[in-house]
Amino acid sequence: MNARSQISPAIPFAVPTSRWADLAAAALNPAELLLYRSNLLGSDLTVTNFGGGNTSAKLIETDPLTGEPVEVLWVKGSGGDIGSMKLDGFSTLYQDKLLGLETHYAGPDDDDKMVGFLPHCTFNLNGRAASIDTPLHALLPFAHVDHVHPDAIIALAASSGGEAATREIWGGRIGWLGWKRPGYTLGVMLRDYVAVNPGVEGVMLAGHGIICWADSAKACYEHTVGLIADAANYLNARLGDGPAFGGAVVSPSPDRAAIAADLMPRLRGFMTGARRKLGHYSDDAEALEFVGSAEFERLARLGTSCPDHFLRTKIAPLTLDPARLQDDAYLAGKIADYRAMYAAYYERCKRPGSPAMRDANPVVVLVPGVGRITFAADKTTARLAGEFYGNAINVMRGAEAIGDYIALDEQEAFDIEYWLLEEAKLQRLPAPKPMAGRIALVTGGAGGIGAATAARLLREGACVMLADRDASAVQEVCNGFARQFGKDVVRAAVCDVTDEAQVQAAFDATAREFGGLDVLVANAGIASSAPLEETTIALWNRNYDVLAQGYFLTARAAWPLLKRMKDQGGTSAVFIGSKNGVAAATNASAYASAKAAANHLARCLALEGAPAGIRVNVVNPDAVIRGSKIWDGDWRQERAGAHGIDAGKELEEHYRQRSMLKRDVLPEDIAEACYFLASDMSAKSTGNMINVDAGNAQAFTR
Ligand SMILES: [Zn+2]
Repeated sequence: MNARSQISPAIPFAVPTSRWADLAAAALNPAELLLYRSNLLGSDLTVTNFGGGNTSAKLIETDPLTGEPVEVLWVKGSGGDIGSMKLDGFSTLYQDKLLGLETHYAGPDDDDKMVGFLPHCTFNLNGRAASIDTPLHALLPFAHVDHVHPDAIIALAASSGGEAATREIWGGRIGWLGWKRPGYTLGVMLRDYVAVNPGVEGVMLAGHGIICWADSAKACYEHTVGLIADAANYLNARLGDGPAFGGAVVSPSPDRAAIAADLMPRLRGFMTGARRKLGHYSDDAEALEFVGSAEFERLARLGTSCPDHFLRTKIAPLTLDPARLQDDAYLAGKIADYRAMYAAYYERCKRPGSPAMRDANPVVVLVPGVGRITFAADKTTARLAGEFYGNAINVMRGAEAIGDYIALDEQEAFDIEYWLLEEAKLQRLPAPKPMAGRIALVTGGAGGIGAATAARLLREGACVMLADRDASAVQEVCNGFARQFGKDVVRAAVCDVTDEAQVQAAFDATAREFGGLDVLVANAGIASSAPLEETTIALWNRNYDVLAQGYFLTARAAWPLLKRMKDQGGTSAVFIGSKNGVAAATNASAYASAKAAANHLARCLALEGAPAGIRVNVVNPDAVIRGSKIWDGDWRQERAGAHGIDAGKELEEHYRQRSMLKRDVLPEDIAEACYFLASDMSAKSTGNMINVDAGNAQAFTR
């Protein structure tokens, strides 16, 4: 067989086409047209990445003070994403005031000072903060301006062959400006460039992206899309039919998903710092091609180019040798080396008054044959960092096809990362929620107590894996939580806790989806009722399979993950027990004794887990009827029968009256106790039981 036939060609750049619909646009006012154009650009990932740059229009508005018409710059404000933004995402500023600011500008050292003047130009009390790119839009004398960073454009902008390629593709229609970080000075440079190059339709910004313009919203949109298509077509013609990055030297491992699941909790455990990390794994074609290629180490070392990419992915990725992933000392050493490298970069580049050094752990970890792993303080940031590195890989592929890839200069990178105004923005961020950075797995996650506990943890900022044997129910609960809390923070696994392989698979999935485990809530349960003489071996075993062995299997699979976080404050396992694990029950010996076994297992594990920082505690509910799967069907009938009452309202009333406090016990009450035991509020508590049963003297622990 011809070896060459196994080599797939380099992944091509996507070529966007116009998605403008005249019918949809006809009904829109000028501001809405700007929004329409922005959303079209930003929601098309062949056009631009998340965040996506910025767009503007200079529109005539009525001045609320004078009632006179006045020119207003509508420009995408600070933060957000042009693909999903709404009208309130735009800043609005008096164009004449923006132009008047130049009297305050004496040169490049004034860039930071100029940012402070922008709020003074606000039109109509609009609270949306103006972005640092506002001067680019204000100083260009065109009605509609787009600034975007699509991969194909950055590939030109970050290549030694980029300027020549720009001339070749567009003749003199598109200009070229050397690297200059965003700010007022770049706006002045652009304006001056256009003044001496009349007729130019846009300018490539080296190491960054493109800015271009037109007379109408539609023309501007189609101009932008057309330029990106030109760049993509040009690069695709030069990628050739061979592989990119010097060809493959390591092929993708068929076991890469399992390798990632094993590796991520260990890396996360070594990334000590103020906050725990969330992980994200990808083995998409771009990542696998890059990490397996001959040029991988050389290019990875260079870091990224576009400021957006750099800010999301840090100065450079950490690369690992796939042959040494089992060696903890190797992994710990690599992370320690990375932190030392980052600290050295900070020391080399810092200026008087620079903010203190931030977290030195790597964000991007690359492993040949396995793919790309990213870590950040929350799941969405970790996912986006991965996606941005995917963009950076595309950029390198294109840039190397027409010359040498050029990364951002180290000092320039530092000045962007440690920009004082960026620091001020970070300082204004709200404090993280109590469970931010924590990863929980809840068995029986589709049921009443399980789902309520998951919701409680999600609300406090945790990421949650819902494990349940009912595939459709758990997916439904997961979808609901995804709508409520965001799609990044919740996952579902089909898991029968009596099945060793399914239990292991659920924890592997948790490790791969989120990076590890901080909280186990062992909740999956059943209940049965029968007098001793009618208790079959099958019934006995069923209770012990789910309630005793199920808890054992769950805890045993969680253990290696929980142990990894000892140096970061430890972890917590919460067992959902039962009043009947403490107090004897009539006609339920199999159930009650199995629950007692689980409760004692928790105490044994509290003893065994303490040296590894694992706390183990129990919540004993009683009579949580509402929302419970256990209380659907037979158990309800059986319990009602045992008490000689009807299975409907009378049963709830029976349990209410039986309690000392005469109150219902709800799934949310159990969830509250679980949250307490899962969180640092109970950091000094292990081996405990909390009864949540509205008071039951028989169940008092002694
Ligand atoms: Zn930009």
